[in-house]
Amino acid sequence: MSKKHRPADKIQDIQFFGEFGGVNPSITDSSTFTYLEGKTMEEVFDGEKKGCYLYSRHINPSNQYLSKAIAEIENMESAVVASSGMAAISSVILQLCSSGDNIISSNTVYGGTYALFKNLLPRFQIKTSFVSMSNFKSIEKAIDSKTKLIYCESMSNPLLGVSDIKKLSEIAKKHNIKLVVDNTFCPLIFTPKDYGADVVLHSLTKFINGSSDAIGGVVCSDRSLIQELINVNSGVSMLLGPTMDSVRSSSVLKNLRTLHIRIKQHSKNAMFLAEQFHAMRNLSVCYPGLIDHPDHSLMKSVMNNDFGFGGLLTIDVGSRVKANRLMEIMQGENIGYLAVSLGFYKTLFTAPGSSTSSEISEKEQNSIGISPGMIRISVGLDNDIKRTFIKIKSCFSKI
Ligand code: PLP
Repeated sequence: MSKKHRPADKIQDIQFFGEFGGVNPSITDSSTFTYLEGKTMEEVFDGEKKGCYLYSRHINPSNQYLSKAIAEIENMESAVVASSGMAAISSVILQLCSSGDNIISSNTVYGGTYALFKNLLPRFQIKTSFVSMSNFKSIEKAIDSKTKLIYCESMSNPLLGVSDIKKLSEIAKKHNIKLVVDNTFCPLIFTPKDYGADVVLHSLTKFINGSSDAIGGVVCSDRSLIQELINVNSGVSMLLGPTMDSVRSSSVLKNLRTLHIRIKQHSKNAMFLAEQFHAMRNLSVCYPGLIDHPDHSLMKSVMNNDFGFGGLLTIDVGSRVKANRLMEIMQGENIGYLAVSLGFYKTLFTAPGSSTSSEISEKEQNSIGISPGMIRISVGLDNDIKRTFIKIKSCFSKI
């Protein structure tokens, strides 16, 4: 029987020695690397010789440490870090698709991803069909001979729908296309590879870094796709140059070490708030940990133990005006910040309809369920969440 993948053990098992035996690996402070013989350099450029550092846009030790650690956590063979989550997403798509190809995307993805697919990729003759990821018939119907991949978020932004990765990967395999999963909302909670995902990517900007002080991304996959991405002649990561700076990758690696503890606390606090909101009349709340969430059972059947249902929840206060007012009051009361992004130690809140999903037209927002009064809350690491809830309740009475 195969041993179950335990992502937090992989964090525990990270063991990189610094150049001089330091417990933190040295930060790569070089953009280029020396060769004792010109011939060896020729061989590296020709692809005949592997394992040598060449130039930091290609690979460098700091970026490799972080890539390796995240690949392990995601149970993938290999990974390459990028300068942002969007860089990770666009690199994968451009590596897998050529002019004339198309992709099938979930109709509920992060607004930036939606804009990339809808507005930018058509300039390179790559079209996208936006389909509900729970409508398997429509997904199959949209696939044709030019389809290269299915794209979804393991938990969607901002609607918190859970994708059935197993089912989607069966469809992808049947049609010999790739399943690409953005796991940004649920690191450690989901291991999409275990259910058949071919590519797993993250915006490191969010939970993985967790400090809201950096932008970063990562693509995890099999060795051959990662090698294609960094190929000196044809790799998108190499030739479009969305490289992560090595000082930054070493700081993200340090934060990664506490991810398991942070995710548990984010989830615990989010569950508490979701239950309290649920008990309040006249407030609609969406959290996958609640039994009445449409994907609650699906999530329970595929999630890794111990990390809860994630740190995100949404509430609907009825109108955009009320949503803005509530968020302003909550910020004034120091419950958190009225700011985009997620996974910070402080609670962050936004109205997705007018911010992180504003790239999606109002009509489309209505049809997928993003309402003007919706507030997305990334619940922080508050030590006393009961105290926080009492403060939030008093804010409700002021709108
Ligand atoms: N994927 C998801 C689910 C996101 O929420 C975001 C940003 O909010 C991104 C990707 C893009 O990441 P980045 O801002 O690091 O480019």
